[in-house]
Amino acid sequence: MSPARIGILGAGAAGTAAAKILQAASPKMQIDLFTRTGEQPFNRTLVNKGIAIGLLTPAQATLPAPGATLVCDTVRGVDPRTRQVQPASGETRGYDGIILATGSRPRTLGEDVLGRDEALAAGRLTTLHSPADAAGIRDRLGELPGSARVLILGGGLLAAETASLLSTAGHDIALISRSTLPGCSAFGEHISGELLDLHQAHGATYLGRTIQAVRTHPDHITIVLDNGHRVEGDLAIIAHGTLPAAPSPWNGPDGVPVDDRLRLREAPGQRIYAAGGVASHDHPGLGSYRVDHWDDAAAQGTHAARTLLHDHGLGEDPGAYRPASTFTSSIHGHTFAGAGHPSPRTRARTVSTDPALIVHEHDEIPVAVTGLDAVPLVHQWAPRLHHPHETTTPPE
Ligand SMILES: Cc1cc2nc3c(=O)[nH]c(=O)nc-3n(C[C@H](O)[C@H](O)[C@H](O)COP(=O)(O)OP(=O)(O)OC[C@H]3O[C@@H](n4cnc5c(N)ncnc54)[C@H](O)[C@@H]3O)c2cc1C
Repeated sequence: MSPARIGILGAGAAGTAAAKILQAASPKMQIDLFTRTGEQPFNRTLVNKGIAIGLLTPAQATLPAPGATLVCDTVRGVDPRTRQVQPASGETRGYDGIILATGSRPRTLGEDVLGRDEALAAGRLTTLHSPADAAGIRDRLGELPGSARVLILGGGLLAAETASLLSTAGHDIALISRSTLPGCSAFGEHISGELLDLHQAHGATYLGRTIQAVRTHPDHITIVLDNGHRVEGDLAIIAHGTLPAAPSPWNGPDGVPVDDRLRLREAPGQRIYAAGGVASHDHPGLGSYRVDHWDDAAAQGTHAARTLLHDHGLGEDPGAYRPASTFTSSIHGHTFAGAGHPSPRTRARTVSTDPALIVHEHDEIPVAVTGLDAVPLVHQWAPRLHHPHETTTPPE
């Protein structure tokens, strides 16, 4: 029987993709697409590439209206048993099916880092996750007469891309990372080594260091490292990855555990699904993991919607979800590209060194691929991920 009313919590990559599938399958279905109170759906990938560097206003980073009913009312909780959604306004609503697509939130510095809260309050230390974060960075950089000294805290993709963007915009960059080879567990040693050379050619690096304290001054910030070294800047940006951002009862650090169809793992018959940065997948060999990339979140939203339709007798079983979407990032004039989820538990096999192409395998099966200046090769490998017979020969 066709479900009358579906609630999609979150209107980013996963939520809007899910809404499109449901609408196309059943135009009469009532779809409520929730965003936070006062927020229009937006494309998060433009937060650093557009808003922070002043290329786009937050309004220009909004997503086109998906046609579902937009409900701008932050969801506080869900009652999984009755499928009731509890928004901040108090207007509780019940649904025939719910897709959780509330994404992630930024990891910040630990509470033990002295001076953290003062620096955050002064706007000299910031995360880079929301349009408001990005507008704050843009304004802070705009106040300075010339180039700024920007400290990037972290070594992953967001850190690398943001360092590159701000360096290209003429600012002096220092990258401070816990790891001596940032990104190594996700990109493999070879690519991380090449990315590190690029960072070192474009700015200062402080590697293998943790942050002990942050000191806020009227016109600058000082980051104190565990070896006592002090690094000074006009602004410090935290890029320490993300944590899932689910409403209650999944608002702990683990996100929403899903099965391979993206149904709620603890109660797959409950017609509750999760997709995107909030969903926690489980793999017998790779353990629990989340994938936080735009195209993969959209693919998960599509998959969750298809499972929901199937559970209501409206479509084929979409099969098991396996991450295989591609992602790219421009770093100091080079293009980092990947597909799938390069979990630290995979084995990184170098397929080519020029251009660098790494295939990440589990049990001899390729589950992810990463490359530097190797976009066509990454795109050739993407459809072969998760297929056991094509592990040893690179695609023609
Ligand atoms: C600065 C930055 C740059 C990035 N660049 C890239 C890139 O170049 N390529 C790439 O592949 N990935 C990139 N990413 C990652 C990508 O943006 C995310 O993986 C993707 O947005 C995840 O999609 P999602 O639907 O899970 O969450 P989101 O797109 O974040 O959407 C979540 C939605 O849920 C809403 N929401 C959250 N909580 C609630 C609540 N309680 N009630 C109601 N609504 C709620 C949010 O407001 C939002 O609308 C970037 C991330 C950041 C932070």
